[in-house]
Amino acid sequence: MSVLSSHVRGEWVTPDGAEGRPMADAVTGEEIGRLATDGIDMAAVAGYGRRVGGSALRELSFHERASLLKALAGHLREHREELYAVSARTGATKGDSKFDVDGGIGVLQVYASLGKRELPASGPWLDGDVVPLSKGGTFLAQHLYTPLQGVAVQVNAYNFPVWGPLEKLAPALLAGVPTIIKPATPTAFLTAELVRLIVESGLLPDGAVQFLAGSTGDLFDHLTEQDLVSFTGSASTARQLRTHPVLSARAVRFTAEADSLNCSILGPDATPGTPEFDLYVTQLVTEMTVKAGQKCTAIRRAFVPAAQADAVVEAVREKLAKVVVGDPSAEGVTMGALAGLEQREEVRRSLKSLTDAAEVVFGDPEQVEVTGADAQRGAFLSPVLLRASGDSAAVHEVEAFGPVSTVVPYASTAEVVELAARGQGSLAGSVVTADPEFAREVVLGTAPWHGRLLVLDRDDAKESTGHGSPMPQLVHGGPGRAGGGEEMGGLRGVAHHMQRTAVQGSPDMLAAITGRWVPGSVRTVTDEHPFRKHLEDLRPGDTVVGGPRRVTEADVEHFAEFTGDTFYAHLDAEAAAANPFFGERVAHGYLVVSFAAGLFVDPAPGPVLANFGVDNLRFLTPVKFDDELTITLTAKQISPRASAAYGEVRWDAEVVNAAGEPVAKYDVLTLVAKRDA
Ligand code: NDP
Repeated sequence: MSVLSSHVRGEWVTPDGAEGRPMADAVTGEEIGRLATDGIDMAAVAGYGRRVGGSALRELSFHERASLLKALAGHLREHREELYAVSARTGATKGDSKFDVDGGIGVLQVYASLGKRELPASGPWLDGDVVPLSKGGTFLAQHLYTPLQGVAVQVNAYNFPVWGPLEKLAPALLAGVPTIIKPATPTAFLTAELVRLIVESGLLPDGAVQFLAGSTGDLFDHLTEQDLVSFTGSASTARQLRTHPVLSARAVRFTAEADSLNCSILGPDATPGTPEFDLYVTQLVTEMTVKAGQKCTAIRRAFVPAAQADAVVEAVREKLAKVVVGDPSAEGVTMGALAGLEQREEVRRSLKSLTDAAEVVFGDPEQVEVTGADAQRGAFLSPVLLRASGDSAAVHEVEAFGPVSTVVPYASTAEVVELAARGQGSLAGSVVTADPEFAREVVLGTAPWHGRLLVLDRDDAKESTGHGSPMPQLVHGGPGRAGGGEEMGGLRGVAHHMQRTAVQGSPDMLAAITGRWVPGSVRTVTDEHPFRKHLEDLRPGDTVVGGPRRVTEADVEHFAEFTGDTFYAHLDAEAAAANPFFGERVAHGYLVVSFAAGLFVDPAPGPVLANFGVDNLRFLTPVKFDDELTITLTAKQISPRASAAYGEVRWDAEVVNAAGEPVAKYDVLTLVAKRDA
């Protein structure tokens, strides 16, 4: 049987004469191919990633890398039928395959749009605003992110051969860090197909993605301070890798996502006949059967009020009885096979430990009726529902990584919070209730043990993404037993691949380094009004000063009447006098901002297309009648939008009174046309 090729150092390589580890079709048991990386020079692979892939990626801007992700998502979408076809051989139904394949493509798309929307078109990614560090304003600091100059090594689990690599790849690539993909043995043939499509697309720079079709060999010995490792799999392998001497000596960034005993909690209000009761039962059955329960987020512990335990068991049994196990391509099959016979044996072993303390209330771990396939050769297993007391240690310790869940009755809110914590840290949990007080107590009580919590009720059920679906915008990971790591989480996952550095210096130095105007750095009042300049011609620091303009009592009364804002502080002298902040009538804050606009705007049609908002508006000193306002508007940050005829300009706006005291401070956000568009 042929050995799968690895894609390293810009080419596909197949080891000569290696026997390799076999991979089997989960449905038929037939051997699909073998895995071996013998003879691959791992130091050279890592070096190639850093030197060739890393340099090429870092030359691109965030927006360009986001465009690559978008294009890659499009390419994979076009070819997804090819991935579904191979995915069926992992035991996946069409629905399971979509979860894996479309889910992975979805992650690429989300990161593509986050990159375009939230990250700068050029220059470093700034973390927060400048931090003032001195009275005179000559010494400030700015936190900024730069991409790590190493490789992101991903070690994947067998259960999501497409989503797993893509959810790790997307944030790394957007950050500008190249990836080495290592798939898990049982389903590596599907990840190989994914990588083939990525390579054939020709979209990514050489070295941006490399693929090891087999063991990592001595790769970890060659990792450096700038590299990262993201692991998904068992807690024991996580422990082994985390304590690798090179990883600890060189403080290589390591994140793990391991097995976890996720729980779902039914609220006491959710009695039979309520929408929440039905939602709970349906969700539990879904989590048991999607991917044949081989989901790191699947519900292993179903906590239900003691009074409802019988009803829940009965309702779940009824639904499980309708599950048709078999060849995913056969008519009517609703649950496929486990990833392989070894995995099935592992689940059966775990079930033996569980059944010492739990009663089997549905399914036979040793036997199952199979549609369209040979029950002995394929890795089929019946869904198994157990029922146990919360005192059973095994329920909180043993994970059967298959279509297995245990119903555990609880007596009080305090008890269920305590039971949830006995899982020692989980990826995901859910609370199904319509009672906000119960939801609040359970969420705040169990949150320290969870990476993600879903509160499900009749109001969000229709649009809910469900207990088991990690979302790219949200943190995926969990404390303790769940690995202690975090993946995705929107831009948090990008930041994980970058170094955050606090840069201290003078305002002018920080402005030059960051490309963003900083308070205290040079302002240039240009002859031409900055609103007459196209995006390419504007510079950070370009400034217009407007005013002074007197604010009269008549202005305030007119504004009050015109807008309907007749708040007492502007119109009622006696009430305003009693106000601890004002002591007398004052101008509306919105009047100040409106006058400021009147002072800085250049009215004629020009490159400024729109004002799309203000950020961080603060009113600092009340404006009394007959005071005079002066506005200084300074171009702060200029962000061209890729593939658009305009960009965003953030302006620093500062309004002062006649005494020079700051009255209002804010950022004005505009869209400005490109000259050459
Ligand atoms: P493993 O921890 O054995 O394997 C996970 C990955 O680690 C595989 O790619 C494996 O590669 C690799 N690996 C193992 N040892 C090393 C090593 N010394 N150096 C580098 N890489 C290594 O987990 P399994 O896949 O066997 O799954 C076991 C259990 O893990 C499941 O039963 C389940 O409890 C849990 N799990 C959790 C998941 C999650 O998402 N949190 C997902 C899947 C499983 P190789 O295949 O080549 O050995």
